[in-house]
Amino acid sequence: MTRTDIHGVKIHNVTMREAVRLIQTWVEEESRVPRAVFTPNSEIIMQAQRDPEFKELLNSADLLVPDGAGVILASKILKTPLKEKVSGIDLTKNLFREFAGKNISFYILGAQPGVAEMAAVNLIAEYKKIKIAGYDHGYFKPEEEDDVIQRINSAKPDIVLVGMGAPKQEYWINRNMYRLNCKVLIGIGGSIDVFAG
Ligand code: UDP
Repeated sequence: MTRTDIHGVKIHNVTMREAVRLIQTWVEEESRVPRAVFTPNSEIIMQAQRDPEFKELLNSADLLVPDGAGVILASKILKTPLKEKVSGIDLTKNLFREFAGKNISFYILGAQPGVAEMAAVNLIAEYKKIKIAGYDHGYFKPEEEDDVIQRINSAKPDIVLVGMGAPKQEYWINRNMYRLNCKVLIGIGGSIDVFAG
């Protein structure tokens, strides 16, 4: 999988279909450490300019998809064009559509109290056979973090969707992925609010 360097952020050159397939492969294989997927848009790439630690963290992810027309345009200007836009919200919707009925479960973590639950209700209504293993809001205190981790681990989801905004969600995933009992973590920004309607 080739990568396109946009101001030091090395985005993977994948189509939506390839990204979904790759995530499915990761869910289905035995792996000791979960995979991290981040979805940088132009704003996140700008944030990474100001924060070298954040840039390094992004580049260490297993998959960085191009979230937005701005990223695609930049890749064309740099003469290393990325194949297509793969936004976080569209990727998540494609995963729901593809994995509903496949026994692959999701945990929704983030947004204000009550919102993740509303999102879960709406997703079950829309995607019928989707498996939501659990949900939690994203405004827990540092001392509550262990309880959150424990709830996720008891729920044993395949995929944890973390919507706490950038760069908070990326730092959170990077810090906690090694003690999470799941296959893939994805930073999805404000998507939980959108799913909640
Ligand atoms: N959020 C959260 N915990 C926090 C801060 C933010 O769960 O400590 C949630 C917030 O409620 C919203 C999302 O993170 O659902 C951030 O959305 P935003 O649109 O700002 O993020 P972006 O998509 O721009 O990364």
